[in-house]
Amino acid sequence: MKKVDHIGIAVKNLDASIPFYEKVLGLPLLRIEEVHSENVKVAFIDAGNVKLELLEPLTNDSAIATFLEKKGEGIHHVAFSVEGIQARIDELKEKGMNMIHETPKTGAGGAEVAFMHPKSSFGVLYELCDKTNIKGANS
Ligand code: ZN
Repeated sequence: MKKVDHIGIAVKNLDASIPFYEKVLGLPLLRIEEVHSENVKVAFIDAGNVKLELLEPLTNDSAIATFLEKKGEGIHHVAFSVEGIQARIDELKEKGMNMIHETPKTGAGGAEVAFMHPKSSFGVLYELCDKTNIKGANS
């Protein structure tokens, strides 16, 4: 793992939560996009050394909708920046980790992502995030 790329935060409503980050905390909103593979709408906030990924469910069967129902709003996952994501997944599996995704899927911004099962990682949902194949990636 190279560094933390972003922290994912589940929110009920982006429009309601973004002003807290922008106006109260004074952090810039980078972009908003819909990620249909996950049925979420995502807002990226620039927190300097790390990004905050606010996740609002678009459908009731979205994993974020289930999370909000069970746990309410709050920290959902921590994403590590990696290169060569499939090799990293294979390494983790060799080390006994349970992966939710054994092959990467396309996440926000076109990044290749995969999640580790939190039962393998002491209760934290970790994401691997590989941006090496995105042209002009800088955020
Ligand atoms: Zn994420």
